[in-house]
Amino acid sequence: ATPMSIAVATGVGATRGILVKHGAVLERLSDATHFVFDKTGTLTEGKLRVVKIESLSEMSEARLLELAASAEQNSEHSIATAIVCLAEQRGVSLMEATSFSATPGRGVSCLVADQSVIVGTREWLAMQNIEVSETVTEKQSAFEKAGVTCVFVAVDGKVAGLIGVEDTLRHDAQQLIDALKAQGIAITVLSGDRQAVVDAVTARFGNIERRAQVLPQDKSAVIRQLQEQGEVVAMVGDGINDSPALIQSDIGIALASGTDVSIESADIVLSHNELIQVDASRRLAKRTLKTIR
Ligand code: ADP
Ligand code: MG
Repeated sequence: ATPMSIAVATGVGATRGILVKHGAVLERLSDATHFVFDKTGTLTEGKLRVVKIESLSEMSEARLLELAASAEQNSEHSIATAIVCLAEQRGVSLMEATSFSATPGRGVSCLVADQSVIVGTREWLAMQNIEVSETVTEKQSAFEKAGVTCVFVAVDGKVAGLIGVEDTLRHDAQQLIDALKAQGIAITVLSGDRQAVVDAVTARFGNIERRAQVLPQDKSAVIRQLQEQGEVVAMVGDGINDSPALIQSDIGIALASGTDVSIESADIVLSHNELIQVDASRRLAKRTLKTIR
């Protein structure tokens, strides 16, 4: 009866937008003890908006946006998209960026109009020996307590300003977290963003684990640690960054709106892009395995 029930469940799943790539994953999913979620684009919509531009130099806010957007035009990060979108909305024409390089989990650097432009985290600036003053740190904390991610812009080796970006939780994120918690499932939010931002954005979820400032290459190590503690881990993600973690996890789940790489790396793809389908998948797996065992 085993292969039959699995085939039926796989078919039922497909009609509900739950695409199970191979039946064996249903057994693992029915045993899952711990769900790990990427933050940006998974728990949140991934449509970032610039909510604040603040110059910390003589530079005008318009010039700050112009330089930052010119630097970010070659990056695929959702922060880059938000900055470039705003520039376009404001009719700012972008300048050419040369010697461009992007470092995952940190930011970008390049030359724009003969000026060195660096956009990213404060660690990214520090790695290039750019000093961040105490006043700037206070501003950063204020942003982050409100759930706003602080993007630093440095021009010619000096902090020129800050750009605040914000995202919205998916409409069914809370419902999903509540449903999983009610079943005694442990939850971890895994993010490259800062702790204060992760805490603020997910405050309503109550008692869960929150792992912040995890670099893209370290996300899968977090999954492995949980597995070593005996947890059966499901990972839900959407980004290129999440792909190694999706592969390492016992059950990799991707949203269809995610990157091609994450969809390829996952065992289950949710084609309706509804987060609540994560719980529907788990319940489908539970029911299927109950019939078999
Ligand atoms: P997340 O897990 O939130 O998607 P990432 O690991 O991609 O985060 O990035 C971590 C942090 O690095 C971001 O919150 C941002 O501050 C910074 N960062 C990464 N790429 C860029 C970029 N292209 N422009 C500006 N900041 C960036
Ligand atoms: Mg993401």
